[in-house]
Amino acid sequence: MTGTVFDIKRFAIHDGPGIRTSVFLKGCPLRCEWCQNPEGIPLDPILWYFSSKCIKCGECVKNCPVDALTKGGQDPNYIEIDHDKCTLCGRCTDVCPTAALSITGEEKSTEWVASELLKDKVFYEKSGGGITLTGGDPLYQHEFSLSILKAIKEYDIHTAVETAMFGMEENLLKFVPFTDLFLVDFKILDNDKHKVYTGVENKLIKSNFERLSKKTENILVRVPLIPGYTATEENIINIRDYVYSIRADIRIELLNFNPLARDKYKILHKQYPTFQTNRSYSEEEMQSFNRFL
Ligand code: SF4
Ligand code: SF4
Repeated sequence: MTGTVFDIKRFAIHDGPGIRTSVFLKGCPLRCEWCQNPEGIPLDPILWYFSSKCIKCGECVKNCPVDALTKGGQDPNYIEIDHDKCTLCGRCTDVCPTAALSITGEEKSTEWVASELLKDKVFYEKSGGGITLTGGDPLYQHEFSLSILKAIKEYDIHTAVETAMFGMEENLLKFVPFTDLFLVDFKILDNDKHKVYTGVENKLIKSNFERLSKKTENILVRVPLIPGYTATEENIINIRDYVYSIRADIRIELLNFNPLARDKYKILHKQYPTFQTNRSYSEEEMQSFNRFL
C-alpha cells in the first residue's frame, strides 16, 4: 500500500500524550479559511518555497526548463512560482543551495512510513508517547492510514488520529480497533457558519462524532481558536454543550491561534485571511476562553 505524505515531525508534544512522531498525510475535503497547513489540502504533490531559507541567488530561476519561476514579481525578495506551468521536475530543488525549494508530498509505502516511525520507539517508550496521523486529514487516505495504524499496532505503540471526521462513517469506524486516541477537530457548531468558513456543512461531522463516541471512549475534542471565526464565547459554549450532550466525560481542549501560516498563503497565491488579531492569545486570554468549558 502507498499514499502521499507531506511531512514527518519528530518530538511533537501537542498531538497526544508524551513525545510523538506525527505523520502529515495529504488530502482534506475541508477548505477552512484559516487553514494552518494549506499545502496539505490537495492530494497531489506541490512545489513549496521557504522564503526564510532563500538567499536570492536566482539559480532556481535559471534552471527551470519551463519558466515557472520568477525572481521578484510582487515582492522583490521573493521567488514566485507559477504552479500551472510547474511540472514538478525537481531541477530547482536540486540546484537550490539552501533547500528553500522542495516538493511537498511524496508517495511512500506503508513499510517506509512504519520504519520511519519505529526509529523513535525508544522515545515513545520513555515518555508514554507514540505516533499521530494528521494532515490534511487521515480520513481522506483512509486505507493508507489504516495500513499504517495496523503496522504500528503490531509493535504495541500508542496511536492517535487527528481528524475533522468529514468522511464516510464506515471508514472512520475502521480506525477504532487500531487507534488509542482520536483527536477530533470541532471548529464551529452553527451549521451555516461552518459551511461559509470551512466549505462544508457539519451535519456529517456531527453524525460521525455521535457514532464514534458510542464506539470508543478515547476521544479528545479540540477547538482551534481562530480570532473572529471560532474564538467566540458563543461558539465555545455551543460546542461544549453539544459535546457534553453526547457524552459528559469527553474532554475538550482549546488550541491557541498560530499566526505563522501567512507565508504559506503567499506561496499558494491565496489571500491570507484578515483576523481580529494576528498574534497568539496570551495566557490570560487563554484562561478566559477556558472558563467557558
Ligand atoms: S520543479 Fe521543475 S518545472 Fe517546477 S519550478 Fe522547479 S524547475 Fe521549474
Ligand atoms: S536557488 Fe534557492 S536560494 Fe537560490 S533563489 Fe532559488 S530558492 Fe532562493
